[in-house]
Amino acid sequence: MPDQQATKHGGPTIDRARLALLIDRERAAYAERHPRSREAFAAAGTNLLGGVPMTWMRMWPGGFPLYLASASGARLTDIDGNGFTDFCLGDTGAMAGHSPAAVQAAVARQYGQVGGATMLPTLDAAWVAGELARRFGPTRWSFTLTATDANRWAIRLARQLTGRPKILVFSYCYHGSVDETFIVAGPDGPRSRAGNVGAPVDPRQTTRVVEFNDLASLERELAAGDVAVVLMEPALTNVGIVLPGPGYLAAVRELTRRSGTLLINDETHTFSAGPGGCTRAWHLDPDIVTIGKSIAGGIPAGAFGLSAGLADRILRDETADIIDTGGVGGTLAGNALSVAAMRATLEQVLTDAAFARMIALADRYAAGVRGVIDTGALPWSIVQLGARAEYRFCPQPPRTGGESEAAADPRLDEYLHLYTVNRGVLLTPFHNMALMSPATTEADVEAHTDVFAQAVSELLA
Ligand code: PMP
Repeated sequence: MPDQQATKHGGPTIDRARLALLIDRERAAYAERHPRSREAFAAAGTNLLGGVPMTWMRMWPGGFPLYLASASGARLTDIDGNGFTDFCLGDTGAMAGHSPAAVQAAVARQYGQVGGATMLPTLDAAWVAGELARRFGPTRWSFTLTATDANRWAIRLARQLTGRPKILVFSYCYHGSVDETFIVAGPDGPRSRAGNVGAPVDPRQTTRVVEFNDLASLERELAAGDVAVVLMEPALTNVGIVLPGPGYLAAVRELTRRSGTLLINDETHTFSAGPGGCTRAWHLDPDIVTIGKSIAGGIPAGAFGLSAGLADRILRDETADIIDTGGVGGTLAGNALSVAAMRATLEQVLTDAAFARMIALADRYAAGVRGVIDTGALPWSIVQLGARAEYRFCPQPPRTGGESEAAADPRLDEYLHLYTVNRGVLLTPFHNMALMSPATTEADVEAHTDVFAQAVSELLA
């Protein structure tokens, strides 16, 4: 280890020159292993904005994305014929695994019977709402096509119900493309998050922001009396995983109640904590739960659930147009196909038993990664939330979004992502997140541990 010195934690620092060489080597290997994907990407720029169906698809390491040929369970095959064990799982969208048989059957049946867009309810919807109520607590549910829309509409309802203009979020949260949420806390006060595209208004006009796990700041901000709703993930999952400290979430609930502020738990990612997400696993009592991505086995669907009391108030509110052009709606929301897929997913795939297996696999995954970190004496840490786990380049798990953001290391991410993808293991491009599905196996987990160990040992050689 010629250029490495001990850090203040006693572990090695990363030799940046060596890291750069390894990234170059892995980039070259990536290009060589995926000639057809590379050609497809080069050809696509003419008519696709950024050469991809959605601009974030450029985020994959290696300069171009893999083009998909097939996906099933926890496996993917690209158009060059390379196979992958998929721990990205569509950044949670495929937590149920890719095209699980029960969802395939339900979707085929429903599309054949009623198509997708009839504007009429089907019998599955009430079953799904009942199941979401059983799992998460709130008893009055409504459907969307995305988690973003579930959050957007929940926020509108919260503003209407409280008559207050602002919302409060946590620094470095992500809740989808909800305008109000692109704000971070900083030493000089709140500011628009870097790169916020065409913000309709400065988010400081709409939003208060505090660091996660910081009760004093939360209490101070809520004291202003203008916050309709706190929108939170019970654990942050989009800037590494940041877990709540002991008693923190109970105190958030107490402070929100005391200040007349509503509380939304966004369970879109934290659903990994168990069949009813963190809300059930940790006995939380939010006013509203929002969720999306995984609940329909990969078919677009989202949902938000309100407590019965809030639901009655909004239904009685004659000044709120929640039926036509009042800002809450979507022609395809709650469509028969999405709802059938949600039912099949919740009834047959993401069951209580499946979660028990997935969480045991994540225990194994986290233990494997921890073993490699310990062997290399690296100043890194891994945090697990049920069926998902993520490592971060700091010795202790971060306590706030700001701390976790400060531990980001895009070059290390690039190296580890390229190294693993070149050896058939796919992680989530935006972070070092791995998620277990009902189709994931112990052998898949061991494959990751082996590849991760090799990547680290080459880095430290
Ligand atoms: N909530 C959370 C916690 C998320 O992580 C995301 C997306 N990563 C969303 C909402 C938005 O999901 P979508 O982009 O599918 O609307």
